Amino acid sequence: MIDDQTLLTKAIEARENAYCPYSKFPVGAALLCVDGTVYTGVNVENAVNGLSLCAERVALFKAISAGKREFTKIAVACNAEHCQPCGACRQVLYEHAPDLEILMGNPEGRFKRTTIRDLLPEAFSL
Ligand SMILES: [Zn+2]
Repeated sequence: MIDDQTLLTKAIEARENAYCPYSKFPVGAALLCVDGTVYTGVNVENAVNGLSLCAERVALFKAISAGKREFTKIAVACNAEHCQPCGACRQVLYEHAPDLEILMGNPEGRFKRTTIRDLLPEAFSL
């Protein structure tokens, strides 16, 4: 199984593919599936701002579209000291992985560990 530092490194490396001409704020994510596979994602922006998609959701949707349904951990990296998923990503991640662990990282490889339940208490679910 992949270790935390390696997962974060994949998120850091993924950032290089971010499409962020408007914010100039590249974000990378690396989602670990229960079977050990990893899907990366980057933020993909659009001139119509509301159409932009975050790195976390890109990684999750790639994994889901490949048939994956169980996830254990996601690493996220941006230029902040600890890259926190936005509210929309928290809700989407919670629906697919309510026990998800989150590594909020930076480009130097430091990270803060948390969980989706801590980031989104009393999440909406059906
Ligand atoms: Zn987001």
